[in-house]
Amino acid sequence: MVRETKFYELLGVPPTADDAQLKKAYRKLALQLHPDKNPDAGEQFKEVSHAYEVLSDPEKRRVYDAYGEEGLNGGGMGGGVDAHDLFSELFGGGMFGRGGRRGPSGPRRGRDIAHELKVSLEDLYRGKTSKLRVEKRVVCPACEGRGGKEGSVRQCTRCRGHGIEVEMRQMGPMVQQIQHECRGCGGAGEEIDPRHRCKKCMGIKVVTENKQLEVNIDRGMKDGQKVTFSGEADQMPGVIPGDIIIVVREKEHPRFKRRGDDLFYEAEVDLVTALAGGNIHIKHLDDRVLDVAILPGEVIRPDETKVIVGQGMPSHRHHNMGNMFVRFKVRFPEPNWTSEANLKALEAILPPREALPAVPSGCVAEEVVLASPDAHHQKKMADDMDEEYEDAHPQGGAGVQCAQQ
Ligand SMILES: [Zn+2]
Ligand SMILES: [Zn+2]
Repeated sequence: MVRETKFYELLGVPPTADDAQLKKAYRKLALQLHPDKNPDAGEQFKEVSHAYEVLSDPEKRRVYDAYGEEGLNGGGMGGGVDAHDLFSELFGGGMFGRGGRRGPSGPRRGRDIAHELKVSLEDLYRGKTSKLRVEKRVVCPACEGRGGKEGSVRQCTRCRGHGIEVEMRQMGPMVQQIQHECRGCGGAGEEIDPRHRCKKCMGIKVVTENKQLEVNIDRGMKDGQKVTFSGEADQMPGVIPGDIIIVVREKEHPRFKRRGDDLFYEAEVDLVTALAGGNIHIKHLDDRVLDVAILPGEVIRPDETKVIVGQGMPSHRHHNMGNMFVRFKVRFPEPNWTSEANLKALEAILPPREALPAVPSGCVAEEVVLASPDAHHQKKMADDMDEEYEDAHPQGGAGVQCAQQ
């Protein structure tokens, strides 16, 4: 399931679209919106292009589907990919710490890794420590990330450790510089004597390890909130590990809906309780049952909402509590539930009937009978909005006014 559909909508494709559909949709729009053809659509062209750029990249599309646009910007997940990352993506060899390759702001930083953690509303109410097992790459402990016995790893002589070869090519009057992956070391920048290659990591310098994280779910945390474990993402020699980011996802609750710190609950009361008072029980998110008194004569109307102050969610990192809003359904008695005599008695007790407004002059009162709709009627009711029905019955609408005086 996708979180956001904006990019899909921009391209006019369903979230299930495959690469071919995406490409086709983008090509069509790009032709329409290209600034050469349509100078006014510049902004739209940019948006559509950005949407396609994201959705055509399987990794970015995965992040977008899971976390929306925010996921692409936040946490370095595919957002600001620096030129180095891009380069190693294009040429491979990202696993190998190319000796001394540093950006202007110091050593390269690895990617952040995001995981989702589904949390029940009960756990968000009470707070909890969740254990989460993650798989991560760590620097090989056997060779300490060298890839082989000490001294067995040499800098590649062909590329002098850069992993890249630069070729000059004469193109008419110009000399073109072409960079490609070093053919001597496959872009690694170094060579390992195969006899001394590390047997634990096979010279890759990292191994996969299982790690258990203890995620503290604080009271009142909200859907989408993040818990960051600094430097716990994949390790690589010569690279500062990124963060593991746990994104809290609130599970749907069968009884409560949540908005901010407030809870919403739907309660059903019978007519006698609604009119004459009584009690209802609301099972809260901890082990309490709220015993709610409806006062005699208070009168609960159908769909009326009342509030129980301070019984909502705890506010994250504040000491106040949200409120609980209770919307009432009033259960009326079944048809023919009592005797005519009782109904007469009820008539004497309930507020008197309101008088009918007078029949406007020029109109005639005609007695009609109410019936319960049968299956055929119900189908008509469902079709009510259908235009074909309207067309077939054009007399509806006008004509409610009576003759003029
Ligand atoms: Zn090793
Ligand atoms: Zn080389």
